[in-house]
Amino acid sequence: MRSASLPHRMTLLVLREANQPVKQIQVSKPFVIAVPIVALLSISGLIVSLQLQSENTISRLEETLKLQNLKFEAVVTDRNQAIERLQSQVISLSGQSKALMDRMERVSELEAELQKFIDKYGSQSDSGRLSSLSWSESLGRGGEFIAVYDQEIEGLAQDTRDDFLEISAMLDEIEKSLPATLQKAKQTEYSISGTPSEWPTLSTRLTSNFGYRTDPFTGKAAFHAGIDIAGKVGDPIYAAAAGKVIAAENNHSRGKYIIIQHPNGLQSWYMHLNEIQVSEGETVKKGQTIAKLGNTGRSTGPHLHFEIVKGDKKVNPLSYLQ
Ligand SMILES: [Zn+2]
Repeated sequence: MRSASLPHRMTLLVLREANQPVKQIQVSKPFVIAVPIVALLSISGLIVSLQLQSENTISRLEETLKLQNLKFEAVVTDRNQAIERLQSQVISLSGQSKALMDRMERVSELEAELQKFIDKYGSQSDSGRLSSLSWSESLGRGGEFIAVYDQEIEGLAQDTRDDFLEISAMLDEIEKSLPATLQKAKQTEYSISGTPSEWPTLSTRLTSNFGYRTDPFTGKAAFHAGIDIAGKVGDPIYAAAAGKVIAAENNHSRGKYIIIQHPNGLQSWYMHLNEIQVSEGETVKKGQTIAKLGNTGRSTGPHLHFEIVKGDKKVNPLSYLQ
């Protein structure tokens, strides 16, 4: 049955160009209702799908960002650690540099002390200043420093390199100057050495040896406790070693005589002198002129009677003299 108020079919009039006829399209009523619903559903579907897609994209983006953030954090951490490492390295280097500088300073002080020692005890001709002492002034710089800021690291590293260069230059100087200093020290050591080894006269002509002999005055066998060295009256008599004059006297038998006490316990005795040139209590250096050769006391002609006493025993001087 067809309902008059609700027709099942509907007519759509399509108006086109003015010179063209109106087109009539017969459509059923359900179709007219279905089309907007389908369209609506399609649009809703599209919106939902777009929304899902965008959510997906956002979550992917978030994921990517999170990863990148993690990577970035890792890089920052690495960098911070690297900076910390560098800082500690620079601090350590600075510490080493400081320690080296201090060592250099001590070496310099030691050398200065050595120089003072040489000046005090060495012979006058050896008292020239050491060229190496000039660099002690350059040790004034290079105080303590600690890396705090990243920006300072490069500067500190440069300072440290400069310090090491300076130290290297100082070491070169020391290498150059030390042999001369040591040579002087050796000379000084010799001059203050307590071992009697310096030949006490100009002449080396022995007229009497250590040991038993016929006494020149009595003609009888007697023990000769030293050596006799011939010479001219007035010839210099040298101290056989450094020491302290403990006797500078005149004696009927020994004539004018000197006894020197040496630091290592030995004594050297000088007899028949013409003139004594040191006084009791005076400190003498090895090789120093202490008297003039003579013919005083129990002597048959100009000579030096020389003895070495070890403890309370007379020993053969020739086993000590050079
Ligand atoms: Zn004698």
